[in-house]
Amino acid sequence: MRTIVLNNRIIEYDVKYNAKKNVNIRIRPDLRLNVSAPRWVLKSQLEKILNEKSSWIIHNLEKQKQEEKAEKYNVFENGHAIWLFGMKYRLYFRTDTRNYVYIMNDQIFVCSKRENDLEYAQGIFKNWLKDYAYSYYFEVLNKYKDKLRTKYKIPDFSLQVREMKTRWGTCIPSKKKITLNLSLMYTPQKYLEYVALHELIHFLEIYHNEHFYSIFEEFMPDYKERQVTLNREYSRINR
Ligand SMILES: [Zn+2]
Repeated sequence: MRTIVLNNRIIEYDVKYNAKKNVNIRIRPDLRLNVSAPRWVLKSQLEKILNEKSSWIIHNLEKQKQEEKAEKYNVFENGHAIWLFGMKYRLYFRTDTRNYVYIMNDQIFVCSKRENDLEYAQGIFKNWLKDYAYSYYFEVLNKYKDKLRTKYKIPDFSLQVREMKTRWGTCIPSKKKITLNLSLMYTPQKYLEYVALHELIHFLEIYHNEHFYSIFEEFMPDYKERQVTLNREYSRINR
């Protein structure tokens, strides 16, 4: 693997020499380049060509990145990519004597008793996802509850995990109830933390006012960056 700097970006590429007449550039799914070139092309000549084509390369790298991001997060089909904790996994359905789900490296296996019943198997996975989310969200909420409690009074509360179209979470202080969106499972943990802390602060302040944000700042100095990125990068998950 070679590297080249194009428009201040380090680009990795592989070169294959062949008998063709032209230099060919292909963008791989992992955002590296496959370059094929005639045998007589020198390294310096190849680098010059890559530099000349840099705007095409950068444009297509960006395009591919965007397309990847736009890929649906919650399509539960065999072999389909899904995101958990902001990382890409591949989902596989199997038949077995009982129902269970396990993760191995970047693969998730959903084992189902019923052969050729995708809907049933999807149900197994969704239930697993919800159960997982419930424990995981509770852990993160408790971490921030304990932090807040060093200074503020936060009540014990119940948690609900739901698929919601327009919100990442809600808090009803009078009912001591927090609801978090199942879709937070698809994002990196720092965004779950952001939403968890946001909802917990509502036990202290109902409005999104200065007081609210001063508490936020105190316990998560980079909350604003997390808020902006969550809504910019991941808002389509809800839709
Ligand atoms: Zn709020």
